[in-house]
Amino acid sequence: MTVKLEFLTQDQQEIDLAKRYWAMDEEGAYLERVGDLLPFREITQPGGVAKYVRQICRAYDENQVCPLCDQVLRINGRTEAKKTFQRSYHPCDDCQERQREEQEKRESAERAELEKQLAPYVAHVRSKTISYSDLTDDVVLILQAIDALIGPRLTQGTFSRIDCNELTPMGADDFIDRLYEQDVLEDDPTAARPEAYFLKDGTVWHKKSMVRYFLPPETSLGAGEEAFRVLLDREFSDAEALSNLWLDYAVTDVMRYLHYQCAVHNQTLEFEAIEKIEGTVRHGLRKYSVAQMWFIMWKVVRDAAALASRTYYNLEKAAATIPTKIRKQLEIADQGTGPRNDWSRPEPHIAGSLGMVFNSLFGLDEFSKGAKVIDLFTRLGDQGRGDAELHDLAAAFMKETLEGQRSLPALEAFAEMVRTGLSTEDALMKTIHRNPEFFR
Ligand SMILES: [Zn+2]
Repeated sequence: MTVKLEFLTQDQQEIDLAKRYWAMDEEGAYLERVGDLLPFREITQPGGVAKYVRQICRAYDENQVCPLCDQVLRINGRTEAKKTFQRSYHPCDDCQERQREEQEKRESAERAELEKQLAPYVAHVRSKTISYSDLTDDVVLILQAIDALIGPRLTQGTFSRIDCNELTPMGADDFIDRLYEQDVLEDDPTAARPEAYFLKDGTVWHKKSMVRYFLPPETSLGAGEEAFRVLLDREFSDAEALSNLWLDYAVTDVMRYLHYQCAVHNQTLEFEAIEKIEGTVRHGLRKYSVAQMWFIMWKVVRDAAALASRTYYNLEKAAATIPTKIRKQLEIADQGTGPRNDWSRPEPHIAGSLGMVFNSLFGLDEFSKGAKVIDLFTRLGDQGRGDAELHDLAAAFMKETLEGQRSLPALEAFAEMVRTGLSTEDALMKTIHRNPEFFR
């Protein structure tokens, strides 16, 4: 017999039962069927025997040894016994227990090391402040759109990427990345689940999907309502930043529609094709509306699907024609009257909160033509510059007349101009031109 028994009972009947259960000939065949051992006390079914025997006796199979310590392995029932000698794949109970302990020790040491490395970082981000008025227009607009989704968690608590999923029709990843890379958003390791941060080759890494983000407090106003008003009351004037953000956003709105059309027509786009299309779409959006681009996407995917059904073509080949077909459609559009602009947004396809912010601030939507959008932002920029110039002019006027002790006659002259019905700007200009003596 190659199974060694260790009895946990002194009851002779039980010992006999275990011996009969494990008894085998030299070939390893069991001498009795399990059913022949029954009934034994309250056990009447063969299914209950192995469990009962396990409770009264430990069985070690001399044909199986632990790969780590060479001890014979404990087995639970007849089917686990081997007929010939072999080294087991899995370690014995003692070795498994030791491995578990070592693993736990290693993990807790890693945890301690991770926390040690994270501590100064946590202290740094938690004490950080930023000047909200120094943030660029595109950043402020994105923050307004995030605020519309998550409210006070932006400044008072923390949030994850998934919370911002409805920022655009294609999620929020690119926009969160942008704010994080520009040090506008920070991550708080203490607010994330423990597995979000880990050590790799001695450095700290994080899993983006598990990270908790927040907007640091304003440098002089803190984290309250008043600070956030600086963002909400922003007067937008950076034409380039706004135009680029509109294009970035509009590309997501077009690409979401393209992916939807591809799914409908069973077309799969390669990663390179998607990148190429994004570039072409962005270029097209400088002139056309999102809805016009949808129409082009609809036409091109439908044509590719038709092509796929022809002889000598297959789905893959047909899908590969999509990027060029889009470019071709834009060339045709440029020579004609432009694609139709009455294409509607599919039911489940959202505009996203960034789209809603563009709409409420500037009245833009999927039907706004790119050329007009860029024109609108350019005019806004010019106006902003004009305001700044007027500001400088007014400051110089006050300073010079005050220093020259001519404040009163200067104010009287200015008031006179205002009384004639001139705007502040015109009144100021005329006062300066007509009274050069104030500025000597
Ligand atoms: Zn072992």
